[in-house]
Amino acid sequence: MIFMFALGSTPHAEGVRILVVEDEHRLAELLRDGLTGEGFAVDLAHDGREGLWMGTEQPYDVIVLDVMLPGLDGYTVCARLREAGVWTPILMLTAMAGEYDEAEALDTGADDYLAKPFSYVVLLARLRALVRRGVRERPAVLTVGDLRVDPAGLRCSRGEVLIALTPKEFAILHCLAGRAGEVVPKSELLARAWDFAYEGDSNVVEVYISALRRKIDRPFGRSTLTTVRGAGYRLEP
Ligand code: CA
Repeated sequence: MIFMFALGSTPHAEGVRILVVEDEHRLAELLRDGLTGEGFAVDLAHDGREGLWMGTEQPYDVIVLDVMLPGLDGYTVCARLREAGVWTPILMLTAMAGEYDEAEALDTGADDYLAKPFSYVVLLARLRALVRRGVRERPAVLTVGDLRVDPAGLRCSRGEVLIALTPKEFAILHCLAGRAGEVVPKSELLARAWDFAYEGDSNVVEVYISALRRKIDRPFGRSTLTTVRGAGYRLEP
């Protein structure tokens, strides 16, 4: 559960609109009451479809999005909002403890995440930061030869062929494509695709690199994703 504090009103909260998508009614109402008390204008949605509809139809300054939702889960809502060209900052509430869920939230286009149970004070601080940052730019599509990496739609293609990637494969490829021709250290790929606190086996990166080769290179008779021994990986331009 969350801890409520009376903090008084937030400067510059006036006129800031927040959409809270949360199916636990008690938590949703606590958040609405707390944030309204800070001076924010708050709307509630109680399932994924309603949240997606409201987030698409109404202009919000920030969206608080629970992951475990009936209808559509939070990851899907987030990805669909980005596909629809909605770049409102999204703070995702992840219910499951574990390093992978947070990375997944960021991979689908969320700007920040908070694991439940969370402190209301921390939530408020994160929301203020997101409101200050404002709507970010739609990320650019990267092209490396005939390979196309579209972070907004989480899509990848070679020539006319669409390639299905998992969120982590996508995150690694996006990092390599953004620096095509350069050697990217394994540690950097690990930090990009997982959370910075991940302390697991860095060999996991190799597993994903192999999977990427099977998808973006081998079927096309290419070998653009190379290993630079002792240094990292390079996507050849
Ligand atoms: Ca939930």
